[in-house]
Amino acid sequence: MKLAQRMSRLGTETAFEVLAKAQSLEARGKSIIHLEIGEPDFETPSNIAEAGRQAIFDGFTSYNPSPGYEDLRAILAEEITKTRRVNAKEQNIIVTPGGKPVMFFAIMALIETGDEVLYPNPGFPIYESMIEFCGGTAVAMQLHGDKDFNINIEEVREQIGPRTKLMIINSPNNPCGSTIGDSELEALSELAKENDLMVLSDEIYIRFLYEGVHQSISTFPDMLDRTIILDGFSKTYAMTGWRIGYGLFPDQLVEPISRLVTNSVSCTASFTQKAAIEAITGPQHDSARMVNEFRKRRDIVVKGLNRIDGIECSVPQGAFYAFPNVEGTGMSSSEFADKLLEESGVAVLSGESFGRFGTGFVRISFANSVDNLSEALIRIEKFLKAGA
Ligand code: PLP
Repeated sequence: MKLAQRMSRLGTETAFEVLAKAQSLEARGKSIIHLEIGEPDFETPSNIAEAGRQAIFDGFTSYNPSPGYEDLRAILAEEITKTRRVNAKEQNIIVTPGGKPVMFFAIMALIETGDEVLYPNPGFPIYESMIEFCGGTAVAMQLHGDKDFNINIEEVREQIGPRTKLMIINSPNNPCGSTIGDSELEALSELAKENDLMVLSDEIYIRFLYEGVHQSISTFPDMLDRTIILDGFSKTYAMTGWRIGYGLFPDQLVEPISRLVTNSVSCTASFTQKAAIEAITGPQHDSARMVNEFRKRRDIVVKGLNRIDGIECSVPQGAFYAFPNVEGTGMSSSEFADKLLEESGVAVLSGESFGRFGTGFVRISFANSVDNLSEALIRIEKFLKAGA
């Protein structure tokens, strides 16, 4: 069988591969601590699960409009208006099966062969994969590991050319946990306007912010018309398997993106959308408790990592990942991740899975219990001592 050429340009998310490898070691009796996967280790709050169950029995089991139910779209527009302080309208919301399809559809709708797209590196691997798949050229916007993973605006300015069409940003960021400061965001918004760029702002970790207040690029003057805001329920409400996310799109993109939804998945599951209404309008204490718990774990993990010789970890401002530099151990990041899994049963991801500027780092998800995280820190220390 001969695959279409474009498939050679489609990447993947290493987290799923490492998970499979770790599970196979587990099946052979090895004790594994899973710090590789980016998913809250909490159950979906019971009020949300109950709303979903009830919706199935109430008959919300058939197709619904491609952009989503109107009541949910109205609630999501209100939510964005409240959390981003912009005037979001119901008709600009499109509901999708997870936040990921927002990336997929936005890049499909906007990028022609040869168009250039700026994206964060280290960053969520699907950005680069989708850009290349759609025939675009992925231009890595470096998050500088020696500067708390900040963007250098002058560097970005130099990277913009006549073919640059889209800029992807992600704050709080996966894998670094960094956020983009207000002045950098404003400078990026100016660059977008001066160069007529669209912006895809991935704000899926907005609730997982441990310092400061979330600022969306869409709030800067004249930015709402050129910004796509991506958000979802996977992280905030521990709903990864329900598959629901959404985008706020500028007017001109609403019809084309809805058409992409119709052509691919038809619509997002009906009962999932009803559960999502409960998620937003119901009590928020479970979600708030989860974020507080993550803050506590972040502090334990960062402190513990910085105590280990050869590892240096900056403090993540948001999301639920630590991204320590392991160059001081004398191992490359992939050697570190591979050996740590095989010898000590701790699954982490090598920084290169997040792009070339992730070299020298590993990603540690702290979506795991304090007991497991503490045990992982002990294992990492022993592992390094044994190799020394
Ligand atoms: N954006 C970022 C930065 C992510 O880390 C993820 C998931 O890991 C997503 C988007 C998509 O999540 P989902 O499709 O489950 O909503």
